Amino acid sequence: MLVAASVEQQQIAAQSHCVARKMPDMSEHIRSLREFRSLLRSVLATEIEDKRRDVVVLAIDGIPHFLARSAWPHARMQKLQSVFPTTSSSAWLSALTGLSVAQHGVPGVVFRLEDGAVVNVFDYQGPLGPTGCGNIFSDAKEIGYESIAITGDWHPISCSWLRSLLEQSKRFDEGRFFTGPARRSPEGLIDGIRSSLAKCLDRSDDTPRLVWCFVEVDRHVHMHGYDDLVIGFLEQIDALALEIVNSGKVVVAHSDHGLVRTRHNFSLERMLTRLTAEFNCVGGGAGRARWFYAPAHLEDRFLARLEDHLPASVRIQIADDVFEPGSLARKRVGNFVLTAESDDFVTFDGHIFDHGSVTETELFVPYAIWDD
Ligand SMILES: [Zn+2]
Repeated sequence: MLVAASVEQQQIAAQSHCVARKMPDMSEHIRSLREFRSLLRSVLATEIEDKRRDVVVLAIDGIPHFLARSAWPHARMQKLQSVFPTTSSSAWLSALTGLSVAQHGVPGVVFRLEDGAVVNVFDYQGPLGPTGCGNIFSDAKEIGYESIAITGDWHPISCSWLRSLLEQSKRFDEGRFFTGPARRSPEGLIDGIRSSLAKCLDRSDDTPRLVWCFVEVDRHVHMHGYDDLVIGFLEQIDALALEIVNSGKVVVAHSDHGLVRTRHNFSLERMLTRLTAEFNCVGGGAGRARWFYAPAHLEDRFLARLEDHLPASVRIQIADDVFEPGSLARKRVGNFVLTAESDDFVTFDGHIFDHGSVTETELFVPYAIWDD
């Protein structure tokens, strides 16, 4: 059955569900992930007028709010609500620019551009979306900071999306963490981050610095879940943050989405493969949110067949209900969107955790600040 509930309605329902389960912090005001830019701008503007301290931002991919809250007892925490789909390309761009998915036009990983080409955003090199909207790095420069981005686990990815995300920053491309040689212990991971930060910060210069550092926990969680390595790493982030604060700096941490257990449903995969071949469709999407580009004259029949065959755990929605009608993002997705409502969906490459849908764990992420 086609379900016409908007993402906002789903998110409210998710929050209500959360209250029913007595989550400890649901009375907190929940801000949008898009407010990260203004939250950070406020920190920088206060600092430049006061102590002019360097500000370190740890951007930790794939961490839900509830895990950060328990691992970071010394931080002041806020809960941010991520965007739909809850996927890295959409969420990091919204966090750093303050733009909605509708505005920046990156609705996932695989999507169709205006010229009809279906692209993967992580290797696409052409024009992507609006330019000149500013981001945390342009804000920092305007306020009087030097803006530095440690690409960390994204190195050596090169694509339009990453260039757009890090626009106006001075890039530091040395060192990887969860995807590098020190990935086997929390201590090794923390040492790597400490070393990269030191190379960006240890200079005698009067200009305060914003150093934004990307750590890709997501890929590890896809394969292993939130195991002891991830929990130990997060706990040591709290200790590292205190160490940096004690050296006279401010530390902020944030994330883009959480991940949930996802079991690959082989019969669902076979059914989708069969129908897409039969109706000459191309697929797109992001993890636990998928869509299809069907020839217009076959679309009604394709949709009817999908509705007949999909398990109840997969929701079908009209794309206009989840992406703002007429927006750049809406133009780039198919006309209906499938999302996972349980752990039963399609995934790939041996993944046992995934993201893209709107469960509480996927949707709510931390904004944390350590200062004195
Ligand atoms: Zn991510």
